[in-house]
Amino acid sequence: MKNTRQLPSLKQRALEILIRLQRLYPHATCSLHYSTPLQLLVATILSAQCTDERVNRVTPVLFSRFPDARSLANADLTELENLVRSTGFYRHKAKNIQAACRMIITDFNGEVPQQMEQLLQLPGVARKTANVVLAHAFGINAGVTVDTHVKRLSQRLGLTKHTDPIRIERDLMQLVPQPDWENWSIRLIYHGRAVCKARNPACKACQLADICPSAIVPG
Ligand code: SF4
Repeated sequence: MKNTRQLPSLKQRALEILIRLQRLYPHATCSLHYSTPLQLLVATILSAQCTDERVNRVTPVLFSRFPDARSLANADLTELENLVRSTGFYRHKAKNIQAACRMIITDFNGEVPQQMEQLLQLPGVARKTANVVLAHAFGINAGVTVDTHVKRLSQRLGLTKHTDPIRIERDLMQLVPQPDWENWSIRLIYHGRAVCKARNPACKACQLADICPSAIVPG
């Protein structure tokens, strides 16, 4: 049976969700492994349609062979493809990584740019990747990262009716205070992996069930 209780307003609910998720996952952080902004950018490009766990298995060898923008820009494309093959869509990802690194060298003095508009110029970089890099490499909350977990949970929690990530992000930016934009995404991702899975969400065990309009509560 669906939750039919009177729920607080959208904004109150978003804040309450944030507080509870912070309590549940106090040490939540980006699960991709990297040591420089460029490596985070590359890891995030590789994480499209792939788990962070798999990306973390690929990047140690990749980054020891090609540690920076210059080496990636000059890499043999076939070698690069082979190194990232297991992350899926490897030809596309390798091409974008190399093109992005070339642009970083020619247009941005070899440094990953710290502005959303500039990041979005890089091949293979959309808002999701840009938000991750800005938040975790530079501590800048420019937007809300909307990945598959954030999308699913925000919809189930009734915080957006949209399916397009850009519109979902816009809705969430209205509901969540800016300093918490990345906290929100990371913790929702943790909750999506642990409890609110795509198939069979564990509503009975969920700490958000009383404020979730999609909760399947015992009838
Ligand atoms: S697990 Fe159930 S109650 Fe919890 S957020 Fe997902 S749909 Fe809502």
